[in-house]
Amino acid sequence: MTPLPDPDLYAVVPCAGVGERAGAGMPKQYAQVAGRSLVAHTLAALAAVRRIRQVLVVLAPGDSAFESHVPGHTGWVARVGGASRAASVAGGLVALAEHGARDHDWVLVHDAARCLVPTHAVDALIDACLDDGVGGLLALPVADTLKHERDGRVAATLDRAGKWQAQTPQMFRLGPLREALLLHGGEAGITDESSAMEAAGWAPRLVPGALENFKITYPGDFALAERLFRTRDPIP
Ligand code: C5P
Repeated sequence: MTPLPDPDLYAVVPCAGVGERAGAGMPKQYAQVAGRSLVAHTLAALAAVRRIRQVLVVLAPGDSAFESHVPGHTGWVARVGGASRAASVAGGLVALAEHGARDHDWVLVHDAARCLVPTHAVDALIDACLDDGVGGLLALPVADTLKHERDGRVAATLDRAGKWQAQTPQMFRLGPLREALLLHGGEAGITDESSAMEAAGWAPRLVPGALENFKITYPGDFALAERLFRTRDPIP
């Protein structure tokens, strides 16, 4: 049997969400932080990762705002976003294949709203997953005590041992990820690529991420992101 050619690495950025919790009055990926939109920062961060061959951005079908919020963008864009993140990513994988990506190529799926992802964390994920049979994700071990809430009060304290907070990028081979999303993407609780892969019977690798790689979600997150951008070395 002829061996497969070396896999290429691609990134898919789902950018078709509404982001209501952010209260930005527009899709949060287009809110401005430190002089540019969240997604423009995110794309600059991924462009700095040398091993990623191409980045594909998934937009909502009617999106006419992307180009004005990411001026000069020359990468791949597909207006194939769906009702859920899983549907948007699944659409992105189909578009990636139409551009020539193969089933054994690696895909790093990264939230548009994680605009502070450090290059070294993405490189660490790639290093940990390239020779892995499954792939994996950036994540952080839970440091705080976890509470289960009911009506604004603590109903229980949960055991934090062995618990990790999932981040992105999440890195899997295109074929198995497409299949996992196709079979399980519509199920409750499938909120990232790893959970779809887990439902398909895989055990993704956990790779320590970075605290600053948080997902901008709530109104107060924008000011924190702004401060972090102002005090770190800029990405060109
Ligand atoms: O809403 P949440 O913060 O979980 O979204 C995570 C990422 O998934 C964001 O980049 C968002 O734009 C994207 N998304 C999407 N299509 C959806 C929902 C979310 O591309 N239907």
